[in-house]
Amino acid sequence: MASHIVGYPRMGPKRELKFALESFWDGKSSAEDLEKVATDLRASIWKQMADAGIKYIPSNTFSYYDQVLDTTAMLGAVPERYSWTGGEIGFSTYFSMARGNATVPAMEMTKWFDTNYHFIVPELGPNTKFSYSSHKAVNEYKEAKALGVDTVPVLIGPVSYLLLSKPAKGVEKSFALLSLLSSILPVYKEVIAELKAAGATWIQFDEPTLVLDLDSHQLAAFSAAYTELESALSGLNVLVETYFADIPAESYKTLTSLNSVTAYGFDLIRGAKTLDLVKSAGFPSGKYLFAGVVDGRNIWADDLAASLTTLESLEAIVGKDKLVVSTSCSLMHTAVDLVNETKLDSEIKSWLAFAAQKVVEVNALAKALAGQKDEAYFGANAAAQASRRSSPRVTNEEVQKAAAALRGSDHRRATNVSSRLDAQQKKLNLPVLPTTTIGSFPQTVELRRVRREYKAKKISEEEYVSAIKEEISKVVKIQEELDIDVLVHGEPERNDMVEYFGEQLSGFAFTANGWVQSYGSRCVKPPIIYGDVSRPNPMTVFWSKMAQSMTSRPMKGMLTGPVTILNWSFVRNDQPRLRLSFLLRLTFSHWLRFETCYQIALAIKKEVEDLEAGGIQVIQIDEAALREGLPLRKAEHAFYLDWAVHSFRITNCGVQDTTQIHTHMCYSNFNDIIHSIINMDADVITIENSRSDEKLLSVFREGVKYGAGIGPGVYDIHSPRIPSTEEIADRINKMLAVLDTNILWVNPDCGLKTRKYTEVKPALTNMVSATKLIRTQL
Ligand code: GLN
Ligand code: ZN
Repeated sequence: MASHIVGYPRMGPKRELKFALESFWDGKSSAEDLEKVATDLRASIWKQMADAGIKYIPSNTFSYYDQVLDTTAMLGAVPERYSWTGGEIGFSTYFSMARGNATVPAMEMTKWFDTNYHFIVPELGPNTKFSYSSHKAVNEYKEAKALGVDTVPVLIGPVSYLLLSKPAKGVEKSFALLSLLSSILPVYKEVIAELKAAGATWIQFDEPTLVLDLDSHQLAAFSAAYTELESALSGLNVLVETYFADIPAESYKTLTSLNSVTAYGFDLIRGAKTLDLVKSAGFPSGKYLFAGVVDGRNIWADDLAASLTTLESLEAIVGKDKLVVSTSCSLMHTAVDLVNETKLDSEIKSWLAFAAQKVVEVNALAKALAGQKDEAYFGANAAAQASRRSSPRVTNEEVQKAAAALRGSDHRRATNVSSRLDAQQKKLNLPVLPTTTIGSFPQTVELRRVRREYKAKKISEEEYVSAIKEEISKVVKIQEELDIDVLVHGEPERNDMVEYFGEQLSGFAFTANGWVQSYGSRCVKPPIIYGDVSRPNPMTVFWSKMAQSMTSRPMKGMLTGPVTILNWSFVRNDQPRLRLSFLLRLTFSHWLRFETCYQIALAIKKEVEDLEAGGIQVIQIDEAALREGLPLRKAEHAFYLDWAVHSFRITNCGVQDTTQIHTHMCYSNFNDIIHSIINMDADVITIENSRSDEKLLSVFREGVKYGAGIGPGVYDIHSPRIPSTEEIADRINKMLAVLDTNILWVNPDCGLKTRKYTEVKPALTNMVSATKLIRTQL
């Protein structure tokens, strides 16, 4: 029985690659220094998997920035603006594409399916020339081989590569990217030939787009591509790896009918329906099934007994020598190594498995299938699963009851939004086109130091409070001087908009090194939701009241919404399945999530009500990540949006008409979910807009009726550029062309925490002048 790992985190257990990259980018270390760190990391990962007993060990899953960008380099598809003149692509061209350089901006980055990883989007057109320009895959294969490890080289498959691309600037939006298939396959053939020559016996193509809703034309491209590669691939075992959802029946049919493909990788965690499909549709004889039973996207120890049962049922269909135990997807979406978690208590630790531990789990399952079950290891795992099920820390019956009672009802504010806005206006008395900001103000080195020292108990609570108070008062003064209408306190007490709340809610745990790559050298450290969520004490009321006491203008209370807290955390996977059995037709990840989301919603609801009781009249509940939790397949959108929007409404359905509820979202493409946004029934929404050519506004141009307040961002906060008054005025006028004057708000795209005061002050000055100018013209 064999074992396989789809891919492994590249950053290193202590983010070694991050620091090496950043030091290289800063000119503080040489290319050789960076390469040395990378080589050592790769070697230790291969060794670790080999020592664990993994049979199919991946190579070329390392990347200096991103695996899609690596493929772009392999294909030589460098956009013209980087003035690359051919030859093997080196760091300078590679990192220019990734990050931009002094004269040319970076390529666009977008989210990798429904993960928090971002890839560099290939820019292709009819004139793109392809040539074999990065030998990375072959080099890494040889490098591992020299260390005595025979690996499975991994490439992004040709069809997924094209489906994830976009037409280059100047190319028709309707350009058929798949028409480039015949141009890229010759490069793939060269790579395959070199890999074979180097001794590879297996090759893995990642084709995750196979789990999306594909039309027949797109599926035909899969058949065409792998048929075209057939002779190049002959003599090799070819694994096509899919992940992140179940594979639709049509795609399964296409995939399993390809002659050149000898093995299929399926995500059996998020793709629970694939199991039934394999059972009902049958499995081609002589082919391999790589069964992704160990979750690559979460941090929980596998329920080994349950996985073993799944594997045994597959074995009966596929055959003993053709079943390979694997991870559900690359382990790059989970944390690296539990060994470095010295602060987690041993009970919680026993429930967890990070990448390094998952490798061991995969192998233990393979051995058990082969009749060499490690009883002690399985026994310890079963004990940990049992302790997790019965631990009093996990269960809070009161919360469970309250959350269960929420289902079915609607939770809407009693009055409709236009009458609420009237009631609020009587109290708030705001000018037309009210100005506001999204919440955070620049985070200075000094502020970070204060928070760090307080956490480390190096300064007293008194010192901490007075430092934060001083910062808030500075931020309030600045806003009053700028003459902004609805103020914020600047969020100086927050490290991160999710962590801040997670730390004060029960049911959350935090790691010291549980980093997951987000893009390039950037990593995030998601909190772990391990139990029922509740709010023992108010979380923001102290600071919000303090801030409000400093000004006569309305001060927004600032909260993170339940959906965003959920989407940016590692979520539990242990809610009793029976209770939710009516939802079994839905995907796994779904029915695990919405229950927790309701619990968080109830906790935030308490906070909203405490803020209201504390005299805060405007409360913003950020749902920055609502859009990104949208499931990959359209059939599941409605259900997700239903519980996500419901969760948001739960937080604020109980407030008085005169309390104004804001929400904020970052992401420019809302057109497909605009009705859900309306259904959130917030009084005011501030929303990213400025980077998307007013795509958002086109919705209203097309006649969608929007009655609540809305503030489409008037300038991009991701860039240090200071927008001029004219430019902002122009933007506001464009909005006024499609939105009623009395619902329009004026604000930046997002929070200002990554900007400097030297950028923020002039930008906001211009924003306010532009608003005042337009007010005089109304
Ligand atoms: N209130 C948060 C801030 O201003 C919102 C951040 C976000 O939307 N990502 O920083
Ligand atoms: Zn935002």
